[in-house]
Amino acid sequence: MINKITIDDLVRNNIKELLPYSTARDEAGESYSIYLDANENPNNNGYNRYPDPRQKDLKNLLSRIKGVSPKNIFLGNGSDEAIDLLYRIFCNPASDNVVAIAPTYGMYRVAAMVNDIEYREVQLNNDFSLDVSKILSQVDKHTKLIFLCSPNNPTGNSFTNEDIVFLINNFWGIVVVDEAYIDFSANISLVGLIEKYDNLIILQTLSKAYGLAGLRIGLAISCDNIIGYFNKVKYPYNINVESQRRAIEVVKAGVKKQIEEITEQRALLMGELLNLSVVKKVWTSEANFLLVKFDNPSQVYSDLIYNGIVVRNRSGVMGCKGCLRITVGTPQENIQVLNVLKNYK
Ligand SMILES: *Cc1c(COP(=O)(O)O)cnc(C)c1O
Repeated sequence: MINKITIDDLVRNNIKELLPYSTARDEAGESYSIYLDANENPNNNGYNRYPDPRQKDLKNLLSRIKGVSPKNIFLGNGSDEAIDLLYRIFCNPASDNVVAIAPTYGMYRVAAMVNDIEYREVQLNNDFSLDVSKILSQVDKHTKLIFLCSPNNPTGNSFTNEDIVFLINNFWGIVVVDEAYIDFSANISLVGLIEKYDNLIILQTLSKAYGLAGLRIGLAISCDNIIGYFNKVKYPYNINVESQRRAIEVVKAGVKKQIEEITEQRALLMGELLNLSVVKKVWTSEANFLLVKFDNPSQVYSDLIYNGIVVRNRSGVMGCKGCLRITVGTPQENIQVLNVLKNYK
């Protein structure tokens, strides 16, 4: 009988053995009156002290919103940091590989290339659903991670819980589910499943629904053991003082109204686009963008640019022939997009 593979078996040996950098603040804690331990400039200008390396206040706040314990949250300098760290924790350069879907978010591949990890792509079905058996057929003994993105970028659809759970149950490595757009979706997050499955990592971000792309804060939510590895490998002060402070303010204030307006605008924009002769197809979206198919995507793209409007040309991407990805903007911005497209007869 084969022994069950544990999370530790999947981690690179150099990371397992790594003794992490211990910051002055880790060692001393936070309740003293005079800090002469970190060679900081003592003159208070708001930024003279190093940030909290564990982001305790922000994690406590997010933990209540997400319904998970703070110890099950890692915060990165954007989800992009979490994606990069996944490779650095689990994948041995020039020997391990990962399996991902196509089309999907481009950073999984770029981070794989940077880390010299083979990136295996499995095309989605024609309706953009998962082909779970094709995904598992690409797995070999060097496969450490499967990347899923739900709702998916750029297709806008979510995958079924059944398919995702099937992969978690049938892959001995780690399944990463990127939920960057979950707050725009009618589906609920899979974060609740981390208690049951230690090989599941959920990625979320404050860049989309929370409107904080400029602050750079992404979340990885997983079992204690995996979050422990993230904390070991990350730069000690990866989230700066200002980002932690502003994020707390914005998350406390909430973005429910904004999300409602964006999803309402998404429906209106979709309805209007479907009435236009230049539009061949609009896919139902659970995110804050629409994937829209045209006969002449490059011309439409150029016309929008000529009118000062930039959208994302995805027409060269596998499975997205003819498609532009249009982010849902303000009501006024969406009207301007429609006005340009109405000129086509
Ligand atoms: C936008 C996006 C992100 C966000 O990345 P950040 O680094 O947190 O800004 C993550 N995943 C997907 C699929 C995205 O589209």
